[in-house]
Amino acid sequence: MRSRCEIVQDLLPLYVDGAVSRETAEFVKGHLVVCARCRAVQTRLLRSKHWNPEYAAAAEHPEQQPEGEELFRRYIRQWKRRMGLAFAGIASAGMALVWWMG
Ligand SMILES: [Zn+2]
Repeated sequence: MRSRCEIVQDLLPLYVDGAVSRETAEFVKGHLVVCARCRAVQTRLLRSKHWNPEYAAAAEHPEQQPEGEELFRRYIRQWKRRMGLAFAGIASAGMALVWWMG
């Protein structure tokens, strides 16, 4: 029979990625509280994740999250895309109507 530690350590890579269900996360979290060995494994995993430069940058520079002007620009971009889709919808509906009217 597999020990609890083995199961938790199998799940840890998914757990640190947030890719497990809530029940599984609770199980892992509960075990990490009582098991220093698995906590050490988690620390190692988190540290190795930080070798990913993109992830490390995001974790270490939360102030670089888009805000203000960038957020506004993004909003405009989304709005334009939505308007484009609406226009395409209206245009194709119009074409269909013209075709149907003969
Ligand atoms: Zn353990």
